[in-house]
Amino acid sequence: MFLPFDYQSPKSLKECLKLISENENAHILAGGTDLIVNIRSGKIIPQLVVDIKNISELSDIKKTDNYIEIGSLTTMNQITKSSLLKGAYYLLSYAASIMGCYEIRNRATIGGNIINASPGAETLNPLVVLSAKVVLESTSGQRILSIEEFVCGPNKTEIKKNELLTKILIPIVNEEADGVYMRRQRVKGMDLASVNCAIFITNKSDIKKRKIKISFGTVTPKPYRPIKVEQLLENNKITKNLILESVKIINSEINPRTTSLRASPEYKKFMIEYFLVEGLKKILGEINVN
Ligand SMILES: Cc1cc2nc3c(=O)[nH]c(=O)nc-3n(C[C@H](O)[C@H](O)[C@H](O)COP(=O)(O)OP(=O)(O)OC[C@H]3O[C@@H](n4cnc5c(N)ncnc54)[C@H](O)[C@@H]3O)c2cc1C
Repeated sequence: MFLPFDYQSPKSLKECLKLISENENAHILAGGTDLIVNIRSGKIIPQLVVDIKNISELSDIKKTDNYIEIGSLTTMNQITKSSLLKGAYYLLSYAASIMGCYEIRNRATIGGNIINASPGAETLNPLVVLSAKVVLESTSGQRILSIEEFVCGPNKTEIKKNELLTKILIPIVNEEADGVYMRRQRVKGMDLASVNCAIFITNKSDIKKRKIKISFGTVTPKPYRPIKVEQLLENNKITKNLILESVKIINSEINPRTTSLRASPEYKKFMIEYFLVEGLKKILGEINVN
């Protein structure tokens, strides 16, 4: 088959890092569910495609003393099935389980989802509230960034041309913790999220120690954390007034674009209150917000 670019399939991480350090216009191929679409449409014209599917060490999920480590090549279906991503981490597994369709989830990797950094990307909000970090490797060494620092906007991250995203680190949570991921989409079936949200709470039954992290997708160019609202909700009894105040703060901080194909700014703003109430109810049990 004729390919209008060179193709390499390294068997080791070392070989891969050498290849991308020597080729300015190399593009990494993981599951290909974004890259191939972009090559076909002419948006990306690569000189070299580096297929990382044969680097087996990139598709592990394991637990260490401090982290759950997810290899960047781990597919959505592997994440969905992993016994390590249950309990407090289930929100990530759930997000992976509802993206695209089964066939896409069999190919689509977590690394590709992060690097593509679509505003509606399924894994980004769960990873933000789980305080995840990304490990980037090159021939000159390794650096670790928080997912919040790493993602800069649609299709933009801090990755350098000679780097490979090798793994994602999710800190182990010992405190009583739980999380939720919610999304809205235009039609039944396959579409990217019109708007999505993740909430994660530690020490959930102790109002004095409770820590809350919230992240919304598609309302700003990168995942949006309403930090003032997190602080407001952390040590206070959750009431209707507190929710209304939170919604007011969030809506004053976001500015959803009017050109989105999937949802109007008004719809996204409307969904903020729904996500907050439903998410908090799901984690904390019945809260009285009437
Ligand atoms: C029909 C369809 C439905 C979809 N539905 C959804 C959906 O509901 N939700 C959603 O979030 N997405 C959806 N997507 C988008 C896509 O499937 C995901 O973003 C997917 O996770 C991308 O992973 P991949 O392995 O296929 O990435 P690839 O296409 O292989 O790569 C994507 C980008 O990341 C780079 N890259 C990949 N891995 C690495 C790495 N380890 N280090 C450095 N760079 C890397 C590539 O060079 C490329 O630029 C859909 C796509 C299709 C075609």
